[in-house]
Amino acid sequence: MINFTVGPVQSSDLVRSIGGEQVPYFRTAEFSKIMLENEELMKKFSGAEDEARVIFITGSGTASMEAVVANTLTEQDKVLIVNGGSFGQRFVQLCEIYGISYSEIKLDVGKALTEKHLQAYENQGFTAFMVNVHETSTGVHYDLHMISEFCKRNQMFLVVDAISSFLADEFDMKEFGVDVMITGSQKALACPPGISMIVLSVKAVERVESNRPKCMYLDLKSALKNGERGQTPFTPAVGILRQIHARLKEIESAGGVETEIKKIGILAEDFRNKIKELPFDIVSESMSNAVTPLHPLTASANDIFLTLKDEYGIWVCPNGGELKDAVFRVGHIGNLTTEDNDKLIDALKDMQKRGLI
Ligand SMILES: *Cc1c(COP(=O)(O)O)cnc(C)c1O
Repeated sequence: MINFTVGPVQSSDLVRSIGGEQVPYFRTAEFSKIMLENEELMKKFSGAEDEARVIFITGSGTASMEAVVANTLTEQDKVLIVNGGSFGQRFVQLCEIYGISYSEIKLDVGKALTEKHLQAYENQGFTAFMVNVHETSTGVHYDLHMISEFCKRNQMFLVVDAISSFLADEFDMKEFGVDVMITGSQKALACPPGISMIVLSVKAVERVESNRPKCMYLDLKSALKNGERGQTPFTPAVGILRQIHARLKEIESAGGVETEIKKIGILAEDFRNKIKELPFDIVSESMSNAVTPLHPLTASANDIFLTLKDEYGIWVCPNGGELKDAVFRVGHIGNLTTEDNDKLIDALKDMQKRGLI
C-alpha cells in the first residue's frame, strides 16, 4: 500500500516503532521533559517569538480550531473569515456556535484570495482574521504576505489554521505577525491522528488569560497553567505525544524545518512534472507543496480513487460533495519518495492503457 492522501499519512520507521511500545504513565518528570521539548521544537519550527506558548490538545485539528475560537475570541470581536471550502466553512460554523459576529469572504473552488477581495473590509472595525492558509479541500494556498499586511494595517488579531501547511510551506509566525497557529499530528508531521497543536503569541496568551472559559475540556487557560510544568489537565494521547517528540527531533537532526519544506517541495514538483503527460488538469490557482488537486478530463475522480485503491493498492484522496466526480487530490506529505510518485504515475498509465482514463 502507498498512501498519497492528506492525512493520516505514512510515518517513518522510528515513529511506527514507538507505536508498538507500551504507553507509559505520564505524571512524571520524564514525560514533562518530553512535553517541554515538544513545545520548544514547535516554537522553533513555526517561527514563534521566544515568549510564545504551545498547547497540545488531545483531539484532531478541529478540536484546536474550536479551542481557539472559544478561548481567544469574544462577543466583542468582529471577525473576518476566508471561506474557500469545507475548512473555511468550519470556522464560520464555530463562530455561529460561540456567538461571535463575523463576515465571510466566500471564494469559488480553486480561486485564490486577492487584494480586491480584501479592499471592501479595510477600516471596517474588524478585530480578527481567520484563515486556513492551505484550504486543503480545494488545494488552494493563500498569500500570507498579503493577509499579513492587511491585518497589520487594520490591527487585526490573526488566526491561521496551518494544519496541512505546517512543515510543507514557508511559514513564520513572527515575520507574518501571526497570533495563533494551529496544526495537527496526522498531516506533514506524519504521526497518527489524535493530537493537535496551538501555538499562541504573547498577544494570544493575553487574550486567553482574560477570557472566560466556555468549555471545560478545551479550557486553554488551564492548559497553559499545566503546560508550564510540561503537563496537561487531563490524560493526553501519551503515545502520540511520544511519537511527535521522536518526529520533531528527526526533523531537527535532518536539518530542521527548511530541509523538511524543501523535501516536500521537491516531491510535489516531481509529481507535477510527471502528471503533465496524463489527461488531468491541475485545478488550483495557487498551490501548497502539500497537495496537488487534479481534475480528470476523461473519467470520474471518484472512480479513479476506487480503482487505484482496490486494484493497485494506492490511496489518493477523494473529494466529497459536489466535487466527488470532478476532483481528487494527491498528497506529498508523509514518508514518500519520488519512486513512490513513479509507481502512482505507472498505475495511472496502466489505467489509461486499459481505457479507464
Ligand atoms: C486536516 C485539516 C483540518 C483538521 O481536520 P481534522 O479532521 O479535525 O484533523 C483542519 N483544517 C485544515 C486546513 C486541514 O487540512
